[in-house]
Amino acid sequence: MAENRYPYDIKIDSCGEVLGERLSTSLIPTLKEIPADADVASHQLMLRAGFIRKLSTGVFSWLPLGVRSLRKIERIIRGEMNRFKAREVLLPAVQPAEIWRESGRWVKYGPELLRLKDRHGHEMVVGPTHEEVMTDIARREIRSFRDMPLNLYQSQTKFRDEIRPRFGLMRGREFIMKDAYSFDVDEAGAQASYNDMYQAYENIFRRCGLQFAVVEADSGTIGGSYSHEFMVLAETGEDALAICPNCGYAANLQKAELKTYPVGEAPEGPLTKVLTPDCLDVPTLARFLKVPQSAIVKSMLFTANGDDGPYHVLALVPGHRTINPVKLKNALGGDEAYLTDPQTAEEVTGMTKGFVTPIGAKVKIIADRAVPKMRTGVVGAGERDYHFTGARPGVDYKIDGVEDLAEMVAGDSCPRCETPIIVKRGIEVGHVFKLGVKYSEPMGANFAKADGTEAPIVMGCYGIGLGRTLAAAIEQGQDKDGIIWPMALAPYQAVMLPLEVQNPEVASAAEKLFKDLTDLGVETLLDDRDLRPGPKFKDADLIGIPIKVTISRKGLSSGQVEIKLRSTRELRTIPLEGAAKEVLKLRDCSLGKPEAGGRVP
Ligand code: ATP
Ligand code: MG
Repeated sequence: MAENRYPYDIKIDSCGEVLGERLSTSLIPTLKEIPADADVASHQLMLRAGFIRKLSTGVFSWLPLGVRSLRKIERIIRGEMNRFKAREVLLPAVQPAEIWRESGRWVKYGPELLRLKDRHGHEMVVGPTHEEVMTDIARREIRSFRDMPLNLYQSQTKFRDEIRPRFGLMRGREFIMKDAYSFDVDEAGAQASYNDMYQAYENIFRRCGLQFAVVEADSGTIGGSYSHEFMVLAETGEDALAICPNCGYAANLQKAELKTYPVGEAPEGPLTKVLTPDCLDVPTLARFLKVPQSAIVKSMLFTANGDDGPYHVLALVPGHRTINPVKLKNALGGDEAYLTDPQTAEEVTGMTKGFVTPIGAKVKIIADRAVPKMRTGVVGAGERDYHFTGARPGVDYKIDGVEDLAEMVAGDSCPRCETPIIVKRGIEVGHVFKLGVKYSEPMGANFAKADGTEAPIVMGCYGIGLGRTLAAAIEQGQDKDGIIWPMALAPYQAVMLPLEVQNPEVASAAEKLFKDLTDLGVETLLDDRDLRPGPKFKDADLIGIPIKVTISRKGLSSGQVEIKLRSTRELRTIPLEGAAKEVLKLRDCSLGKPEAGGRVP
């Protein structure tokens, strides 16, 4: 038999995970410098603490510590999914284009979908999400109403060719998602499945020790009619959230309905063309004409991708407001729209850029809800340095559709109770959708009802980004020295720092405590490197393991070791005898009530 190469037994827990790890024999490459291309704390810290390494843009390798935290969140998710009777499956990453054509997303998904061909020239995609594969399973395996409700989930690698991959794991191109899909006989069943997943998600993020909000959300490319996002509150979040401090209304700004807001009055009078030299933006024009910005109508030309090819639409909002692109997209029946480039805009409208006018425009015009309320307004005149004053909506220019286009801002009225809204930033870690029959209908996933007739299966889908959740946990838990992991997600629960490992007394006390801790089931990282105390302390703080146990010659001389909590920096000196039990107590206490975990507001 081969000789054991290491001078210790590796202890393995019931899940096959290492209970006690020696730093010197693992791969935990910490970095002193802040990596140049890492833009947010979580990205910097995951690189510096040796959790991940970048392979290419938006594509990362997980190193041993990273994998441990990844398994932690995966296990929390698995537990809650199983509790709510979802069944785990594992689906292929590479999928035939055929099912994407059936669902219609081969055309709709756009350049985020990574498409490739196999050696036979068959078109394939690398799955950005798995509705098509799941619906294919459902149409083959679900025969009758008796086979439902059913919920299937997996933790699996996705690829989305994001236009702007950034912030490390937060917005990668390749990332791991837990995605679940529910199948029900009717809307009531689908709602019950949705409610279950909503509850499961609350449990998951609470158990992770995260502070999160649940907000009404847009349903995006995945489609469907009704959805909520789980948002970890953090300044660095890419999403802005409207939160009502009074009634609890909470929505993504992409979704937050702006029922009404005040607009300004331009002076009454006939439609008049006025010279407005060098007024190239709304504030300058407002100052020049001595009108409020909200009395000016901004006209912006967009190019939208319709089923039959691109088309143009002129969108109008009051001058002090911005158009939310997602609201615009929804107003266009889901067609993705982007601001038309100046060259094309001039060609399409025959008007000088910056002076586009709705008056006489030959394209479709959609206006924000507030525009028809502006009895008169200032609009462009279609030529450089001129505007019209006194322009009456619906009279001097046509409006083909009135929609909620303007983005809500802090202080706007809550659509439910009219209290001024607060705007916060968040990181979307989870998303639950009602899909209805969006996939089952085109893909023919039907079942036999009790009366023998056929109906399409009613679906829901539910996603959590694992890497993004870990990144969000770091955004919420970090200081100048490094990560502060919640106990539930920490790669190890305790880190042991024997100082002067060459000293036999220190070495043997450390070995004994290491054994005791792992015997008690405490996941422990032993920093057995022969280094000075400084670098050891620095690395321990950087990696962010919740409980630190320091063993020094000085402490041992009076039979003591030091325990320090990473989160509060609370320091205690306790007898070596019984130290393992003390650490166990601390671990259980903090696992029982995850730090600041819970739903806000
Ligand atoms: P976003 O709006 O941030 O682009 P999304 O709404 O497109 O995300 P979903 O399709 O709802 O994302 O995916 C479910 C979950 O997968 C998200 O809540 C998020 O946690 C995660 N996720 C999505 N895109 C990425 C990505 N590029 N990198 C890492 N995680 C992601
Ligand atoms: Mg989403």
